[in-house]
Formats: sequence, C-alpha cells, structure tokens
Amino acid sequence: MAFTLPPLPYAYDALEPAIDQETMVFHHDKHHQAYVDNLNKAVDADPALQGQSLEDLFVGISKLPKAVRNNAGGHWNHSLFWELMAPQGQTGAPSAELIAAIDRDLGGFEAFQADFNAAGAGQFGSGWAWLIVQDGKLKITSTPNQDNPLMDLAEEKGAVVLGADVWEHAYYLKYQNRRADYLKAFWSVVNWNKVNALFAAAKV
Ligand code: MN
Repeated sequence: MAFTLPPLPYAYDALEPAIDQETMVFHHDKHHQAYVDNLNKAVDADPALQGQSLEDLFVGISKLPKAVRNNAGGHWNHSLFWELMAPQGQTGAPSAELIAAIDRDLGGFEAFQADFNAAGAGQFGSGWAWLIVQDGKLKITSTPNQDNPLMDLAEEKGAVVLGADVWEHAYYLKYQNRRADYLKAFWSVVNWNKVNALFAAAKV
C-alpha cells in the first residue's frame, strides 16, 4: 500500500505568529508531499521493501538505498512534527512526570530548552533536534538530513519525545538565516499533550 500525506491537524495559519501560513503551506503541501512521492517511487522499484512500515525500514536503513533513507525519514519525521505542534491555547503543559524526568536527566527545564535549542542551532546544514528516551533516560540529540533516532545508523538511538525541524525550509520565509529565533518561537507552539503521551509510552 502506498504511503500517503497526512492532513495537517490544524489550519495552515494556526501556528502564527510562531510559524507563518506560507511556510506551513510549502512545508506540508510541497516538501512533505515530495518525501511521500519519492518514498513511494523508491519502494515501488524494490519489491523487497513493499509492505514494510517506516519503522521496519529504519531498523535496517543503513543497508537500503539513500533514496529510501532520505524519504522514509522525511515522511516519518514530518508526520510526527505536525502533531508535535498545536495552536497557542491548545498546547497543554508538560506533565509532572515529564518535568521530574527533565529535572533528573537534563538539569531542569531552562537547561533542557537551552540545550535543545543549541542542538538545533548547532546542527550544521539541514537536520533535526530531538528529545529522546534512551535506556530509561531523557537525552537531547540531533541528526543530519532526514535521519532520526529510530534508524540503525543514528549515533544516539531512542524513542522520540520531541523533535524540531531545522531545515531552512522550516523557517526561512519568516526568519531568513535566524534559526535561533525560529527555535525560540517553536516553544510557543509545542504540543505538550502529544509530548506527554510519547514520554509516557517511551519511558521504561
Ligand atoms: Mn521539513
């Protein structure tokens, strides 16, 4: 069965002013659609890959063609990314359990935000910043391109709790080269209800 583009769970302008409508239209309708289309082409070309889930593909991604790695990653990363954001007023708040784990593993909420932003700002070129659960502990990491912490080749593997797209296409129309300003604004639209659920499912 072919992979399909999930609809955005909110209107294109719902994340303004943090993320502008034009960026969301291009990011979802053009960039994410292209990952889906190119993933389907790559899978169509190789019968051995058909019927596998994205997570199945990630387990052995280092042995698969670059087109599969880039586009399967792009599809999974973006599908989650849309859900990790919500309009202001609908974002909820970090759960007491998540806050406690952040205090225990990351030195408190302010240090967590600063280190997450630094991971995103410090990712050379295109990539993602991540908050993961690894061996029962929260950890901040980043990946290049459309790699993610589920892939067998990731330097830091774990269950994803939060991710931020730091490709220029995610912010350039509004923020130009100011990636740090985009990451600062990202926190105003983080969907803590989703983050809390991912953390609850991931922790040992
Ligand atoms: Mn993107």
